Amino acid sequence: MSLKFHPESVDLDSDRIIVKWGDGHCSPYENKYLRINCGCAECVEEWSQRKLLDPATVASNICAEDYLMIGRYAVQFLWSDAHYTGIYPLQLLRSLCQCQVCFPGNSG
Ligand SMILES: [Zn+2]
Ligand SMILES: [Zn+2]
Repeated sequence: MSLKFHPESVDLDSDRIIVKWGDGHCSPYENKYLRINCGCAECVEEWSQRKLLDPATVASNICAEDYLMIGRYAVQFLWSDAHYTGIYPLQLLRSLCQCQVCFPGNSG
């Protein structure tokens, strides 16, 4: 597994989750953004990949209360809305990064 997909540290903040990767990259994710992009069977219909989660139902002050590493391939966030099944494969998580390096057009 490449260092690019190896999280060295995960910091849970009140409004964002900051992941530091093995290659030195740092990814700040807004809590709600990450919650909305949950890919579990409750949030995304498995056979059609249709989103079942309505972003409007996610509180803007959602935060992650805890996280677990799932082996070496994924991280699981325990969300404050009691959604505990959100498993984010590390490659997906990295691809969700919204920083200015990954999204140069994103002014913030
Ligand atoms: Zn989910
Ligand atoms: Zn990035």
